[in-house]
Amino acid sequence: MTENIIYLDNNATTQCAPEVVDAMLPFFIGNHGNASSPHFLGRQASRAVASARELIAESVGCVVSEVFFTSCATESNNMAILGVTQSLSKRRKIVTSAIEHKSVLGPCEVLETRGFDVVIIPVKKDGNLDMDAMRCAVDEETLLVSIQAANNEIGVLQPVRAVADIAHAMGAACHCDAAQLLGKIPVSIDELGADFVSFSSHKAYGPKGIGFLIIRNHTRQIVMSPLMFGGGQENGFRPGTLNVAGIVGTGVACRLCSKNVEGEMRRITLLREQLEEGICHIVPGARIVVGESPRLPGTLSVMLPGVPADLLITRTPTVCMSMGSACTSGTVSPSHVLLALGIPRDEARCVIRFSLGRYNTDDDIQGALNAIGAALSGIAAAHIAER
Ligand code: PLP
Repeated sequence: MTENIIYLDNNATTQCAPEVVDAMLPFFIGNHGNASSPHFLGRQASRAVASARELIAESVGCVVSEVFFTSCATESNNMAILGVTQSLSKRRKIVTSAIEHKSVLGPCEVLETRGFDVVIIPVKKDGNLDMDAMRCAVDEETLLVSIQAANNEIGVLQPVRAVADIAHAMGAACHCDAAQLLGKIPVSIDELGADFVSFSSHKAYGPKGIGFLIIRNHTRQIVMSPLMFGGGQENGFRPGTLNVAGIVGTGVACRLCSKNVEGEMRRITLLREQLEEGICHIVPGARIVVGESPRLPGTLSVMLPGVPADLLITRTPTVCMSMGSACTSGTVSPSHVLLALGIPRDEARCVIRFSLGRYNTDDDIQGALNAIGAALSGIAAAHIAER
């Protein structure tokens, strides 16, 4: 059924790698042991978790005691932000950016209702963080700065290291939402410089329902409270029976992601450029959103003048792509990311996002361009007939 589908929505989620599925299967049927059980199957599951933790730590550049499994990046973000702010510190300021994922902005909104001062740093038209505003905002009242590594909609990469340095200079902690990095560009926890770093497996050819939060060992002096209490798994930070199959799959996914990542980046950049040129050729006036900024190699966000993204998506059923707006209760509202870039609402409705990944080929790009070209001709013909 999905044979003729061209999948260009890899920032939303990725296909599980076949190697990942193969590694997970024995932990559904054969060894279903609980990793906390003392018997043979339990010990086998526990060893599989330990090996996966090693693969993950090696792939992102940290030590095994810094890897804490969660269910997704949303949980990792909430765990870091809410966990740190439950400390007894007198500091009451949280600094973040206007283009963070809702799983960062959501907990920040909750913290505001609990009396925290939340400062939202704007981004410039090119999607880059306003670093002057960041420097002004972070002070001795600041408890935590939370900044994303790469944006899911426009792909812009943020200077996490520089932000972490600003936070640390003021004695604040730094959290980084790195959900979009893994598998797309090389990841080094040391280079990011943050104290807490969130990841998700399904964005990196792993399974859904599993993520991890890196808590650096040096942060032990930052008091971080768990959000849940129970059986004491993950050192008491994230109790609950471990998702052994998901963890094993994540280990393999991370290992695959760190293999030949530079070669993949070059290949995917070429595909994206091909798509970019093709779209600009078939849609006069098409404008690449933040085309000049450093961004993820496979992300292309493009404004197609006069072509509502929801209409194009409906008319192009064989191509999976995403739009810069969300449809809630029948009304289309532009994403907070596009609005933060200063893109007018009517233009934001016409923004389409393509995100390419490991399994995309030249044929996919050509096929998508043909399908989009045909859909646009249909939309134009319908417009003429309406007049
Ligand atoms: N952070 C970013 C930047 C994302 O792109 C996403 C998902 O789109 C998330 C967090 C949430 O990830 P998950 O689906 O694993 O909760």
